[in-house]
Amino acid sequence: MSQSSRSTSAWQAADTAHFIHPFTDQAELHRNGVQIIEQGEGVWVTDSEGNRLLDGMAGLWCVNAGYGQPSLITAAHEQLKNLAYYNAFFHTAVPASIELAELLAGISPPGMKRVYYANSGSEGNDTVIRLVRHYWNLKGQPQRKVLIARNLGYHGSTVGGASLSGMPWMHAQGDLPIPGVVHIEQPHYALLGGGIGRNEFGLRAAGWLEDKILEVGVDKVAAFVAEPVQGAGGVVVPPETYWPEIQRICRKYDILLVSDEVICGFGRTGNWWGCQTFDYQPDLMTFAKGVTSGYIPLGGVMVGDRVADTVEAGGEFRHGYTYSGHPVACAVGVANVKLLRDEGIVARVREDVGPYLREAMGSLQDHPLVGYTEGVGLMWAIQLVRNRETMELFDDEKHVSVICREHARNNGLIIRAIVSDRMIVAPPLTITRAEIDHLIQVTRQSLDLTLQTVRDRRWM
Ligand code: PMP
Repeated sequence: MSQSSRSTSAWQAADTAHFIHPFTDQAELHRNGVQIIEQGEGVWVTDSEGNRLLDGMAGLWCVNAGYGQPSLITAAHEQLKNLAYYNAFFHTAVPASIELAELLAGISPPGMKRVYYANSGSEGNDTVIRLVRHYWNLKGQPQRKVLIARNLGYHGSTVGGASLSGMPWMHAQGDLPIPGVVHIEQPHYALLGGGIGRNEFGLRAAGWLEDKILEVGVDKVAAFVAEPVQGAGGVVVPPETYWPEIQRICRKYDILLVSDEVICGFGRTGNWWGCQTFDYQPDLMTFAKGVTSGYIPLGGVMVGDRVADTVEAGGEFRHGYTYSGHPVACAVGVANVKLLRDEGIVARVREDVGPYLREAMGSLQDHPLVGYTEGVGLMWAIQLVRNRETMELFDDEKHVSVICREHARNNGLIIRAIVSDRMIVAPPLTITRAEIDHLIQVTRQSLDLTLQTVRDRRWM
């Protein structure tokens, strides 16, 4: 039930007058009016009109534990009462930030025992850039400055994060990327596979990293930065052969391997970290989102021994944020990691709801608009196509996935539309089988309605 203190239209008017939204065409928003989300419980949110929606995107891939978890709320409340803030700069720390560091070390791959705190994924990746370059300076190889990332990778929206991201439309606004960041093609089998087998393609796509290293110059490359599964780029799951080959190449040329676990971390792929699902050992891992299930901003970098030992021996690392290791964020992080661990939520993704969603996604593949579905754990993409035989896509300007997203929303389901007409599903990890059934039923209904729209407009 709505608890709004103002009417929806009053909120919309104030929003229009005062709020510039992230990644939003303001004029379009003002034409449509913002949707006000007021409450959350489990996998459900409620808007100011009293509509209940199944949140098939876990907010923005972050509400891993679902909404309204009492232990997270209590942790924040208790920490606020006890000590709302203290810094970590002057040889001080708060218990919560130490306890979370210890817990994170316990769930991370061997050799990753130390954490550097930030407040978001973007700040985490900016920290990565500074840490990597600082590391090579300390190693006496200051010419190693170049970071290699991937097209359509997403690593954030700060100057550093947006530079690492491989989104040309972001680079176009503000003269990015910064010098010393270059990109290679993504391991997108359906798009770039060119008729070869999936595993062979995985090796070929990894080979693009080696080509780029040789082009830039082996002695100039500092690190390779990538998501285990590209998230905002469309849930692009690499072939099995890809990551082991990437790791081999990084080791061959002594290049740091950075796994951006901002989406994949904290259970999304069925293990604590995506690198465990895809079987590689990074030197650094960026995290955010799921560390607090999005209840409060927190991010950071897990720092492997190789980098941590060098940086810790190298004097002061002149980097940090007022809120590095914020007590309230860390207290929520502690409660969240314990909840995911003690309730077996990560294992449940791997063994129960993950496989169940895989089956359910498979059941959509007979739909005339669906080219294929692709995903792992609880992150999935549905590729909409104009022609299932040839996999021909619709023109981007037709925004067919946006039409589908709107049909879903009108029927009580939040799913996301991404470039090239991919529908994204990434619900809270606490979703039940019955809720997955509902999600799939409304998705199919939305696909049917989209098909009708597309046929009415003679686009197919
Ligand atoms: N890395 C990845 C893989 C992400 O998906 C995101 C956000 N979607 C970020 C970094 C940036 O995180 P934030 O928005 O918290 O700055």
